[in-house]
Amino acid sequence: MQKRNDNSSDFKFAGDFGVSTAFGIKENPGTVMPYVDVTENTYCCSDEHYYNQIIDISEHPHDCSNGEKMITYSPQYNYGMFLDYNKECVVGNGSAIFFHCFGAKPYTQGCVAVSEQDMITILKAVEPGVRVVIDHMPL
Ligand SMILES: [Zn+2]
Repeated sequence: MQKRNDNSSDFKFAGDFGVSTAFGIKENPGTVMPYVDVTENTYCCSDEHYYNQIIDISEHPHDCSNGEKMITYSPQYNYGMFLDYNKECVVGNGSAIFFHCFGAKPYTQGCVAVSEQDMITILKAVEPGVRVVIDHMPL
């Protein structure tokens, strides 16, 4: 989860979320979920254009420099799931809430992370309609 560029102080990240889509820099490990192959053009937009949406910048051209160029986040985004937090895409309410793989550091910016192997196991097990329950609210 990234809260970058959002200045609201009342952001809350705990609850019961659906999964909008799975994604990965690596190819689909065998999930039945919708799967976005992360390319050079894959951004998670955090501006008003496509707020809180994973887009292909070549299909939606705009200055997305505030967004997250997802391919640059490896190994974190080798595999992941995009949670439907703020699925109404209200600007300022928080964007890019991901369930992803561990990176080089043992913590995340509020996202939920597991090992890459665990993520593969989870991806193979989940089905559309799965809920992800998060009961920890990062400070
Ligand atoms: Zn954008």
